[in-house]
Amino acid sequence: MLKGKAALVTGSTSGIGLGIARALAAQGCNVTMNGFGDADEIEAARAAMAEENGVEVRYSGADMSKPDEIAAMMAEADAAFGGVDILVNNAGIQFVAPVEEFPVEKWDAIVAINMSSSFHTIRAAIPAMKAKGWGRIVNIASAHALVASPFKSAYVTAKHGVAGLTKTIALEVAEQGITVNAICPGYVWTPLVEKQIPDTMKARNMTEEEVKRDVMLLAQPTKQFVKIEEVAAFALFLCSDGAAQVTGAMHQIDGGWIAK
Ligand code: NAD
Repeated sequence: MLKGKAALVTGSTSGIGLGIARALAAQGCNVTMNGFGDADEIEAARAAMAEENGVEVRYSGADMSKPDEIAAMMAEADAAFGGVDILVNNAGIQFVAPVEEFPVEKWDAIVAINMSSSFHTIRAAIPAMKAKGWGRIVNIASAHALVASPFKSAYVTAKHGVAGLTKTIALEVAEQGITVNAICPGYVWTPLVEKQIPDTMKARNMTEEEVKRDVMLLAQPTKQFVKIEEVAAFALFLCSDGAAQVTGAMHQIDGGWIAK
């Protein structure tokens, strides 16, 4: 169904983005990967994805905090694949601190990478989607697009911004065969979550086990981390023709967190 479509997944060298890129490639999509990391590891992941699925997989090292690099990445994807059919805005970082100690440069980076980068990719992707009368935009937001937690002022602000962007663009392109949705995961076990444990331990004066049990999984009634594969499966559904009328929506995958 998605065979031959061109997909671009920001932040797809790790975690959720890599899982979604792999799932799209397995459906026959040609993929543009993006993100940072060890060059050999990225090349190995790129080559394996291409070979295992018989698709073309390209890599862009564009920095999602830099609008000019985002524009260049989108232009390259356009030239290589004739436009981006499936855009997954996933790149994101986290920083945890009380607001009065929150470093200004961390605030700026989180707002740029977690929120503004989606504006820059979307505005570049829409013209080709409109021309084809088909497009899928999936923004990886967060449960923190819907509710807040203390010490995550920049992240919660940026993710709430992604919710607003999702709804607004969905309305703008609703008659053009383009859907725009946000996935709102709870805690997914990825490097991003693992890395925030030390700062949360410090901010809340807790041990690692206490952070997992009393902060992270406390929020999730299922008492389990969400799996990357579960987020990828839902992203695939949103890209399917069966989801043509699903747009402008925030989709929770959070073990029941927001139901509380
Ligand atoms: P991760 O750290 O495993 O992956 C983040 C990806 O973003 C990596 O590929 C990294 O290289 C890339 N990236 C970071 N800064 C970048 C930049 N400036 N330019 C380009 N790429 C950049 O994290 P993850 O947990 O897979 O998170 C992916 C997304 O899912 C993020 O937007 C995150 O906020 C969201 N999310 C994660 C969870 C969770 O519990 N893991 C929950 C809700 C939402």
